[in-house]
Amino acid sequence: MLKRLSQWLLLSRRGRIAQFAVPLSLVAGLTVLLIVSLGRLADIQQDMRSNEHGNMVWVVSQAQTTVVGLVAAIYKYHAQEGDAQEVEMAYTLFASRVDLMLDGPQARLLQTLDASGQLLGKLAQLNESEPLLQSLLAGSQNAREQLLADLERANKLLGRTANNAMVTQWEDLGARLDRYRANVLVVILLLLGIFLCSMLISTSLFLALRRARETEWVRRQAIRLQGELEAERRVSQLHKHFSETVSHQFQTPLAIIDSSVQRLGRGYQGSQKGFVDQHTNKIRRATLRLSRLVERTLMAEYYAQSQDVTIEPCAIERLIKEIAHQERDIHPHRKIVIETPATAIPAVLADAVLLDHVLGNLVSNALKYSPDDSPVNIELQFIAADNCVVCTIKDAGEGLTEQEQVQVFDRYYRTPSAASVQGTGLGLFVVQKLVQLMGGKVWVTSVPGVGSKFSVSLPVA
Ligand code: ADP
Repeated sequence: MLKRLSQWLLLSRRGRIAQFAVPLSLVAGLTVLLIVSLGRLADIQQDMRSNEHGNMVWVVSQAQTTVVGLVAAIYKYHAQEGDAQEVEMAYTLFASRVDLMLDGPQARLLQTLDASGQLLGKLAQLNESEPLLQSLLAGSQNAREQLLADLERANKLLGRTANNAMVTQWEDLGARLDRYRANVLVVILLLLGIFLCSMLISTSLFLALRRARETEWVRRQAIRLQGELEAERRVSQLHKHFSETVSHQFQTPLAIIDSSVQRLGRGYQGSQKGFVDQHTNKIRRATLRLSRLVERTLMAEYYAQSQDVTIEPCAIERLIKEIAHQERDIHPHRKIVIETPATAIPAVLADAVLLDHVLGNLVSNALKYSPDDSPVNIELQFIAADNCVVCTIKDAGEGLTEQEQVQVFDRYYRTPSAASVQGTGLGLFVVQKLVQLMGGKVWVTSVPGVGSKFSVSLPVA
């Protein structure tokens, strides 16, 4: 699965775009999630710090205490248990508290708690009661009663406002807890998102590392293969050069033998003319065979590896007859039968030299791997449906098992029973390569103990 994914990323255009787009979007997503979670955490922290209504409860109850203190001081003064200074001090304390409440953020908050404005009005009024206090201290009964009534009213209003502040504080706390819970939930979800993004980024990093390693591996393989290819080319060139040289060394004396025998035959006009002609022809055919053998053995593998083929119409029927003729010369006691249909076999598209090598090899194998007294049958068929010609070489030899039928085309493969027969295991490997090079097919069917059939099919010219 990972392998297929990394191949897709490496090879397809979309995959290559995804290689960059996915990690970048993940990093962008991670950044957004981090920013949002920091914002939420800051909200929570801010929420936890603000407690303005709690402060207000404290301020109002402090003001109430000073009111109670002032009322107590007035009563003490009236009962002549306290002096005027004590009353003035209590009033100053009360006034400073009132100032605190009528000023800045406290006043704004107080306005929301004291919607009717009664408390604020009363406090403002009491704040201006210095003359009333002086009259009280001077012994005015009216001033005392009015101030005490105002203070009692203020005390009640302060009590009510403290209650309001308390209730508001509780509501505020409830709302804050709700917000806090919602924010914590969102932060948990964001953390999960961050975790997921991190996992995906790690996976894409892992894949990128893997891809980098694969690319490096492919690069090294390419360098190695390039080196091997170069070496192979050099060896192939050397092989070709060697084969050409050795082939030439053989061909030159063979050509001399051939032309000398030809001249001898033509020059001799004696009574034994028939006998001489028969034998000079035999020598010439044998020379030709030897020349082909050299060509096949030395050049075959080179041809199999090169792409150097000349595909042209080839008269396969004539070619197979020539091959049979040559083989009969080498094995005069062997029976080689060619079976052709009544209608002429069309020419095939092939390289004449390579096709000669292919068919020659199969016929010589059929003779080599079958008893001396058994026939070798060569059948030519035109398959109109596939527009091809199939040449089948059939022997009555030991045959091949199913496993051997698969392996016979492998390089250097020889069946165990072939150990006593001379060979290299290269013939069929080269045959297969050459047939493929010419765009044809070669296959074998065999029954152990009955015999084998090797077939070659080539397109009609
Ligand atoms: P070689 O004949 O030099 O060993 P080939 O590549 O031509 O090499 O053949 C490979 C092997 O296939 C042979 O060694 C033999 O075991 C088997 N083989 C080839 N042709 C036949 C055949 N007609 N009948 C049975 N076995 C065969």
